[in-house]
Amino acid sequence: MCYNVRMKITIPKFVGECVSLLEAGGHPTYVVGGCLRDSLLGKTPQDWDICTAALPEQMQAALIGIRTVPTGLSHGTLTILGGKMSVEATTFRRDGLYLDHRRPDSVDFSASIEDDLARRDFTVNAMAYNPKEGLIDPFGGQRDLAAGLLRCVGDPLLRFGEDALRVLRLVRFVAQLGFVPHPQTLAGAKERAGLLRAISAERVQAELDKLVMGEHALAALRIAAESGVLAEILPEFTHCIGFDQRSPYHNLTVDEHSFVALVSAPKELEVRLALLFHDIGKPATATIDEAGRGHYKGHAGVGAKIVRKVLKRLRYPTKVAKHIEKLVAFHSKQLPPRPDVIRRFLGEHGEVFTRDLLKVKAADNSAKAPICGDRSQLYKQLSGMIDDLLAAGDCLTLAGLAVNGADLAELAPTGPQTGKVLRELLKLVWRYPEKNTREYLLAQAIRLLEQKKTDKI
Ligand code: ATP
Ligand code: MG
Repeated sequence: MCYNVRMKITIPKFVGECVSLLEAGGHPTYVVGGCLRDSLLGKTPQDWDICTAALPEQMQAALIGIRTVPTGLSHGTLTILGGKMSVEATTFRRDGLYLDHRRPDSVDFSASIEDDLARRDFTVNAMAYNPKEGLIDPFGGQRDLAAGLLRCVGDPLLRFGEDALRVLRLVRFVAQLGFVPHPQTLAGAKERAGLLRAISAERVQAELDKLVMGEHALAALRIAAESGVLAEILPEFTHCIGFDQRSPYHNLTVDEHSFVALVSAPKELEVRLALLFHDIGKPATATIDEAGRGHYKGHAGVGAKIVRKVLKRLRYPTKVAKHIEKLVAFHSKQLPPRPDVIRRFLGEHGEVFTRDLLKVKAADNSAKAPICGDRSQLYKQLSGMIDDLLAAGDCLTLAGLAVNGADLAELAPTGPQTGKVLRELLKLVWRYPEKNTREYLLAQAIRLLEQKKTDKI
């Protein structure tokens, strides 16, 4: 593929001011890294980084009238606060030895911009720019940007060995940029994938999130599966890779089906993660009948338990993890397009969960064999039904009933039967929403309480 690389770099006004002030203080200063890569690709950078010959104290002295926060002094990093944006400024550095496959043991500040660029991960991230000197590109970053190539700066085995996070960043950039890893870079990543175990759960989580949300997540997930990266960060997924489902409903292996389903879904993190994991319980529940067909009874429930473990290990917030786990547990539940069933489902699980489950089911269906039929119409119909039921204000929960526990207490002493009667009234109203009137429900309550009394005798 060929990418259109811009020659003109537009720096936000505030970043330009910081560069000018530091330069005026006598310190060579550049815009550097990902922000440059993104602006050369015509994308809006998420964050801006600058690097400079100034040490943090010198930066503070030069940035007259600008607020700064010493965020990482030992690494020479200062955060510069503008009105709406903040900029990370880091002193040029040369990294010392990496003993833990993640962080250098020492940092040498007597470096030049070229030294600083040499310690960066990929050529497309190893360019610097300032208005006076233009683009500084010692490793062919522009060439690789135009070719859509991710190539390590220097020897891939060495660079991935220094910091294994780079292996994961490689796959994440495939997802975000749609670039292809250079063959040697990919080979190095494969060889060093085992070191990913040294990476903290938080970093893995952050990279996995960016990966699944990427425009080119399918290519990235395939590379992650094939290179061993996925098995390192999600060992529980290993058995899904290449798993033949032996089912007429599936013409894809579990991993490929999960990836295709994931990218068919909207770019919503919880929905996409649920799709990545929705069939993770299949290998463990697989049985093969005499005809050679695979069956996966209970795979959703087993999968949900596996997902709970995975998300806990990766330190996802409890609320997010629970939502994903429940989506996995429910993904194969049938939802017939009947208003009473949908009112009940909405009442029991809430609108957010119900809508997300529909997204999961629709994406799952779209990645199945043609024999399953296109159910997209069904999911549209269900979604429209939810809109209508909510717009009509139909009663969905006990709180929406026209009577409450206190009303029932006036009819009979309160006891365990109160809750049971209210629940039966709710079931009635799920079927006949127009019957949610005080008069009708009180009459029904009297009838039900009588019935319960005789049931007891
Ligand atoms: P994004 O901000 O979109 O996540 P990025 O490439 O800007 O991507 P940052 O974490 O903001 O990533 O880092 C800024 C720059 O610092 C990178 O472009 C790269 O030059 C360098 N960098 C970041 N992490 C590493 C690393 N682990 N090894 C080497 N260089 C790195
Ligand atoms: Mg960045």
